[in-house]
Amino acid sequence: MANLQSSYDLFIDGAFIKAENGAVLDVFNPATGEKISQIADASEADVDRAVASARKAFESFRHTTTATRSEILLKIADIIEQNAQFLAEVETMDNGKPIRETLNVDVALSVEHFRYFAGVIMGEEGSSNILGNNNLLSIVLREPIGVVGQIIPWNFPFLMAAWKLAPVIAAGDTSVLKPSSETSLSVLELMRLIKDVLPKGVVNVITGRGSKSGEYLKNHEGLDKLAFTGSTTVGRDVGLAAAKRIIPVTLELGGKSANIIYADADIQKALDGVMLGILFNQGQVCCAGSRIFVQDEIYDKFVEKLVAKFKSVKVGNPLDPSTQMGSQINEKQAKKIIEYVEIGVKEGAKIAVGGKISSAGKTFVEPTLLSEVRNDMCVAQEEIFGPVGVLIRFKDEAEVIKLANDSKYGLGGAVFTRDINKALNTARAMETGRVWINTYNQIPAGAPFGGYKESGIGRETHKMILNHYTQVKNIMIDLSGKPSGFYEVK
Ligand code: NAD
Repeated sequence: MANLQSSYDLFIDGAFIKAENGAVLDVFNPATGEKISQIADASEADVDRAVASARKAFESFRHTTTATRSEILLKIADIIEQNAQFLAEVETMDNGKPIRETLNVDVALSVEHFRYFAGVIMGEEGSSNILGNNNLLSIVLREPIGVVGQIIPWNFPFLMAAWKLAPVIAAGDTSVLKPSSETSLSVLELMRLIKDVLPKGVVNVITGRGSKSGEYLKNHEGLDKLAFTGSTTVGRDVGLAAAKRIIPVTLELGGKSANIIYADADIQKALDGVMLGILFNQGQVCCAGSRIFVQDEIYDKFVEKLVAKFKSVKVGNPLDPSTQMGSQINEKQAKKIIEYVEIGVKEGAKIAVGGKISSAGKTFVEPTLLSEVRNDMCVAQEEIFGPVGVLIRFKDEAEVIKLANDSKYGLGGAVFTRDINKALNTARAMETGRVWINTYNQIPAGAPFGGYKESGIGRETHKMILNHYTQVKNIMIDLSGKPSGFYEVK
């Protein structure tokens, strides 16, 4: 088990400092209920200090060379890799997710993410063009946007920090990052590990309550951009705060994604895809394949096989490398998930498997499937954010596309079939930002990730996010060597 500090301070201007009023919040291991540390509960004055530090750092960091920033990103990736086991343990203790996920997904993908951005900025070339009467040279430059307020959720604390920080550093911006008060430890440990490779003030971490420091950060006058990952409810407010100040915003929000299983699918791959879609990270995944559409002719057999698979999942101590599903983030969330199951049953759904708090503990939920669900039921429309898949029958391609798109969200989704035309036609018809074919929940760096509809604005994990973290400067040069003659008297 990782050795945690008994308390963690704010990270501002390259140093750890106490919250101005000394306020702290207790941190618990969700799996055991044990108090494991404390974090600072930042005040308005602390947010002001962090923004001022980011502003000061921006004045010099904006002028660093691409090569320098690439080198910083590579060093961060190396440090994460060298401390992978430790960081994975911290994440597991703070969040409750199984160690095999934190090590092989959260931490491993973060390393890849920093390396990806280190690489793409070295290949960036900008653009230029000859316009006008063959005499105007137009140069398009991208310049860093400035100080970015970044707010991230508790479901992938370390990975979401990597998704936010790598492009900020790559672009030459500076950040005030606010992790969720539920899960701040891994990013604070990362700051401790990388503080000597990052110029002071480039990244500042403010911990504490969303309703307090988050709210204040969101409305801060000193920001040039906001970037938010979290619920659609809070995301809408972040968007409004940005609109009031006329600054850009990127939003990565909730989802209720469709996982479509056609009758001609490779059944073993489809079973695996359903499990990857809804059990990974205890179902606390924005793009979780939570609506499982199964074609009529295979529905009964497929559900039977799926139930057997769900029963075989090992739920328990997240630090045990053989554990496949760990703890939900807290007891309140686990209870909310069970309440959704009860709502589903009232609406007419059947519990095919699970549906209860697991014997592993009060924050653990059994892998659950609700069968005979209709797409208009509450359990098919609202984000449950737990290991609860709803099974919906469909007849044909046209029907399933209509049902899949009947959602206010549009983040992820998948199609399982052996027919390439059907796979691509369904994928193209789905109103969603990411469609997997014959797999689920793969999120490597290098492919754009983000939502349609109420799932967000912008795309991360691809170089196109750099467009959101920079602004365009156009320089136009007259090459004619003589006056335009426009005002000459004839
Ligand atoms: P949340 O919206 O409750 O909180 C997200 C962050 O916002 C936290 O840091 C929180 O402290 C902060 N916050 C809360 N209230 C605030 C306020 N009034 N002002 C400013 N900040 C505030 O979300 P959560 O419960 O932490 O995370 C789960 C949600 O995140 C789910 O809806 C999930 O789908 C979404 N999510 C989306 C993506 C994506 O890439 N689209 C990725 C991960 C999670």
